[in-house]
Formats: sequence, structure tokens, C-alpha cells
Amino acid sequence: MLGGVEDNDRDALAVIGSEGLEVDESGHGAGPSLHADGQLAVSIGLGVRPEAGTKGGDDRLDGARIHPSSLPDEAASQVGRPNPAWEDTPAWARGDRRAVVFGFVIDHPDGAIVVDTGVGRGNDFIDRAYLPTVWDLDEVLAKAGIDPTSVAAVVNSHLHFDHCGQNPTYYGTTVPVFVQADEVASAREPYYTVTEWAEIPPAQLRAVRGDEVIAEGVRILSTPGHTRGHQSVVVEAGDGIVVLAAQAVWDIAEFRREEATTANVDAEDLRDAAVASIRRLKALDPDLAYFSHHAEVFRRPI
Ligand SMILES: [Zn+2]
Repeated sequence: MLGGVEDNDRDALAVIGSEGLEVDESGHGAGPSLHADGQLAVSIGLGVRPEAGTKGGDDRLDGARIHPSSLPDEAASQVGRPNPAWEDTPAWARGDRRAVVFGFVIDHPDGAIVVDTGVGRGNDFIDRAYLPTVWDLDEVLAKAGIDPTSVAAVVNSHLHFDHCGQNPTYYGTTVPVFVQADEVASAREPYYTVTEWAEIPPAQLRAVRGDEVIAEGVRILSTPGHTRGHQSVVVEAGDGIVVLAAQAVWDIAEFRREEATTANVDAEDLRDAAVASIRRLKALDPDLAYFSHHAEVFRRPI
């Protein structure tokens, strides 16, 4: 179905193909299905997060800073046009940094599973500091051929504002939200995130401790490093294994080099854990691995 996405939609939706992933037609069983084009999970562009020039003082928000090695413009342009406000911002104020923010969706017979919900709307600080371009999750899902009302579960890799921003779409429903218990604790600390986005209603919160299978062929892997309660998702269907690494690394180079950079790992005491998390994900020998802030997809070396 994703093959039907028209070229002119590419600015709003990053659909990353999966050539090389073997399609097992019998994979249409209890687990996630492989589409005809071999798509097992897709990354969905949910926002571009330009860095504002001046931050500090009361505006400080841990986890909200941008990695110094910004993405190339081509990567950013895959997911969206610059915010007009961004264009009007003088160069001195905006620097040259933009970051893409990806969520992911797993097409599962039990219902779609959304992994990360991107940047949200309506928070003055975020709007002022980051001038984000935000795409509504429902619209992005629809463009990916996923009925937004079919979402059966949400997984947050962690609760920084750019990963849980549109969680409130699901608050007050019966959709469960899977987050590491450690991350829930971190999100209650000051300046960690946007509280109203990260505050999952107790009835919907599924606090995970470590690894957990959440649906046939879909499991959460605890991958601390970027944050203490960071988690990734592993999807298996047919012969394919796809890793949604999320922000276990910032970019594909860190994944290849098994490198925990100070920019992606805030706390020194998490450095070893971060490297161990990367190795854990790579030990699965995934066909593909996707990242939250880097459009390039890791493919198993031939
Ligand atoms: Zn983060």
C-alpha cells in the first residue's frame, strides 16, 4: 500500500523502502504483515525541530537540545518544508541546525502500533525555542495507508518532548501506552519534558521493566543510554527482523561504530549502558534499523 504514496507526498511523509528484505507471503499470519513491497514498518516524519539561537536560564529544558552534528538539508527536506517562521528568523538566531523527528508505525493484525508520536502542538516554550514544523500524526498515518482509528497501542522510546508530543491524541481512550518505568520516573523531574504531553493517564500506562513482548512478533527491548529509561522495538515477520532503534543512537554512524557520543548520551554513568544497548540491537542481526533523528536506514551488510 505504501507504494501508492505519491511523490508530492514525500515532503510530508518519509517512506523508507526495504529492498533486500525478503518478503514471506506466508507472513500474513498472527504477526505483523509484510506488504507487497516488503515494508514491515515505516518511519513517519512528525516534525522538523530547528534549533533556536538563544536558550538558557528559565528556558532551559533538558533533553530539548539539538545534537551539534545537524542533519544534511536533504534529510530534513524529506520530511517537510521549513516552517515559514523559520524562514523569517534571522540566521544569527537560528544557527544552521535542524533535526528531523521520526515516529514509526507497525502494521499489525491486532491494530497499528505507533512508536513515538513526535513533536506536539500548543506549548509556548517549544514553539518559541524550536519553531517546530509539526505534522499531525493522524494525517501522517492516513497518508501511510494506516487508518488512524486502528491504532491499538503506542510505544514511547522515551518521554522527551519530541517523542511523546502527540501522545495526548490517545489520552482518554483505551489505547495502552508502553514506556519503561524508569522513564516515567525521569519524566517527573523538572525540565525533563513537556509534562502535559508526557503525563500518561494511569489507566493507559503500561510501565515496562526491561524487555517485553507486546504483540505477536513485536517486542520491546530496554536500551538505556540516551536516557535511563530508553527502549527500542524489534519487529519480526516472516524472515525479516526490523529494529526501531529510536534514539539509542543519534545517527547511523554511531550505530555502525557502536559509539556513545556525549551529545546523545547526557549522563556519563550511562555511557557503558549506551554502548551495550547498541551492541544488543546489532546482535539481533537486523535486516533494517531505523532511527529517530536520521533518515538513513541501516541495512544488514551483505
Ligand atoms: Zn531524547
